[in-house]
Amino acid sequence: MYAPPVQRLITELSKLPGVGGRTAQRLAFHLLRASDADALALADAIREVKERIGLCEVCFNLADGPRCRICSDERRDPELICVVEEPSDVISIERTHEFRGRYHVLGGALSPIDGIDPEDLKIAELYARVRDGGVREVVIATNPTTTGEATALYIADGVRGTSPDVSVTRLASGLPVGADLEYADELTLGRALVGRRAV
Ligand SMILES: [Zn+2]
Repeated sequence: MYAPPVQRLITELSKLPGVGGRTAQRLAFHLLRASDADALALADAIREVKERIGLCEVCFNLADGPRCRICSDERRDPELICVVEEPSDVISIERTHEFRGRYHVLGGALSPIDGIDPEDLKIAELYARVRDGGVREVVIATNPTTTGEATALYIADGVRGTSPDVSVTRLASGLPVGADLEYADELTLGRALVGRRAV
């Protein structure tokens, strides 16, 4: 129906989350109408982010270099590690200004139905980090969803098993159940962080 380059663009756009076939088509036509400079700026931004941004070698947050901004910041408390599912959750927690520790980004949540097992997440890396010493508390801030809760329990057990002297806490209740952290407002998330409890 379309010239092959146009069809290719529509196919690629429709792979984006929340973008169905019709939206992909609308976006493709928007890009065709846009100036060369605007359309190529988008293409360049995608290329640059893929070339320059990788995962932090310590916490697996997004990083422009071997270590992320937070792991490189000496003022951040290295004894306190907040475990989250995705890099976007780091942003949500940073916005509360209630956390001065460091992070550990799992890269998702356990979900046997979807074939996501402990080996698929950065869980062994977390245990190694905690076992290496110097950590006094692990704050588990996975999403208040079924998979997030299952992941929290699994990690709490694992940390207790490998490092019994380290306290393990979970965000306080009050977060919207079933929703992702990124949808919680800063005040609610900040309170949940301050009111975290031992698990
Ligand atoms: Zn890092």
